[in-house]
Amino acid sequence: MSKARSVVDANGVRYELIELLGRGGQGAVYAVRGGRLAVKLVAGRSQRDRERMRNQLTHVRRLPVGELSLAKPLEMLRPPHTGYVMELLTGMVPIRTLLAPPKGETTGVEWYLRTGGLHRRLLVLARAAHTLAQLHGKGLAYSDPSPANIFISEDPAFAEVWFIDTDNLRYESSPGTFAGVYTPGYGAPELVQGKSGVTTLTDVHAFAVIAFQVLALAHPFIGDFVNEGEPELEEQAFAGMIPWVDDASDDRNRATFGVPRGWVLSTRLSDAFERTFGAGRVTPSERPGAAEWAERLFAAADATIPCPGCRGAFYFNQPRCTWCDAERPTFATAVFHLWDPNQGPAGGVLTKPQRGEARPVIVGHGAVTSTTSFIVTRRLAFDVQGPGADEPVVEASLSRDRVSLRSLDGRTYPLFSASGDRQTEVSDRQQTVRLVLGQASWRLHLGEMGRLHRLLSFELRPGRES
Ligand SMILES: [Zn+2]
Repeated sequence: MSKARSVVDANGVRYELIELLGRGGQGAVYAVRGGRLAVKLVAGRSQRDRERMRNQLTHVRRLPVGELSLAKPLEMLRPPHTGYVMELLTGMVPIRTLLAPPKGETTGVEWYLRTGGLHRRLLVLARAAHTLAQLHGKGLAYSDPSPANIFISEDPAFAEVWFIDTDNLRYESSPGTFAGVYTPGYGAPELVQGKSGVTTLTDVHAFAVIAFQVLALAHPFIGDFVNEGEPELEEQAFAGMIPWVDDASDDRNRATFGVPRGWVLSTRLSDAFERTFGAGRVTPSERPGAAEWAERLFAAADATIPCPGCRGAFYFNQPRCTWCDAERPTFATAVFHLWDPNQGPAGGVLTKPQRGEARPVIVGHGAVTSTTSFIVTRRLAFDVQGPGADEPVVEASLSRDRVSLRSLDGRTYPLFSASGDRQTEVSDRQQTVRLVLGQASWRLHLGEMGRLHRLLSFELRPGRES
């Protein structure tokens, strides 16, 4: 298969294969000269293999996935090859490029930051989880998530995500001949043990392995015990017989390598990994679903601030930059609550009882520093999850103790002081207000006062240098 230099599709169009992009559970994907297309070659050249491929492609073309970030299969290849031509966006590379540096380069902070750092890693993973969640919402399983078939922007300034290798898409309930497909190291234990076919739960296991590798640069099941043991141990680990590296109650397989988890995992991400690889190792239903992963990953990305020293992003609950040890700069948290018009006589912030107290429900957060503005997206402002979620609504920037707000979507939003005695508005002309230390002093309403909507407030957190 590796000798194939060119292939011909059903219409007689010839493609020159120029680069192996990745090898998955059942085949290899090659970039094609001229860009924008890729070719997947699979093993098996019999009439039966080809017939099976034809049926799969016919099936996939009928699936309602038109608007998702997936490479659609275009044409079958002519014999002697079995495979197909698919769409590929230019300037995309496999997410595998975030797992380890190219040969000859060392894995270090410099490489981690140069490839986009923590913020971009969280963002591409959140978007990949979101695409999986959209598929799962349609009752479809992707079947074989691996670092070779999730593509991301090659340019670290961007964070687009694109799934290739879509011939395995299938309705979760449908029995089938390819039920057991997976890439070694990414198959869920029940799949490796042959107890289950592919499901949305095997998809999220594979996704979580990739996410852990992208963030922590370690495989969740290859700790010191497996790494230094017999090769059979790795098989056992992939079959779910050995605890994962950060298991909450079993330290048999700890890893002395990888990025310190506190640097790259929020508490809610650590919890999601423990549910996936701890309890979820044995009981698949314990694993968080793809939509929950997307929500937790987006929230983690929103909880980072860029370091003025090294430009790496770090979680703003850390007192110093985790990458270069610089002091955390002055910043303002941006917290989203819900405004409930039926709360009290004039409406109020929705609260929930917590430890005997009524506490405001937090539905999102972000941070503004003096070096980067904070963009309130439609996802944060209106809870939009699908297309248009990344469109900007309001931009906030910080200068000393003043926050400047500007509407970016042509609409005007009311801005109230916390006491309610001062009112102004945020339009496309910049509005600047002064923040009071340790207080959510202003509230930006992202909807009509008579309806349930999100509101945003800022709280200044002084850096130690000021
Ligand atoms: Zn730094």
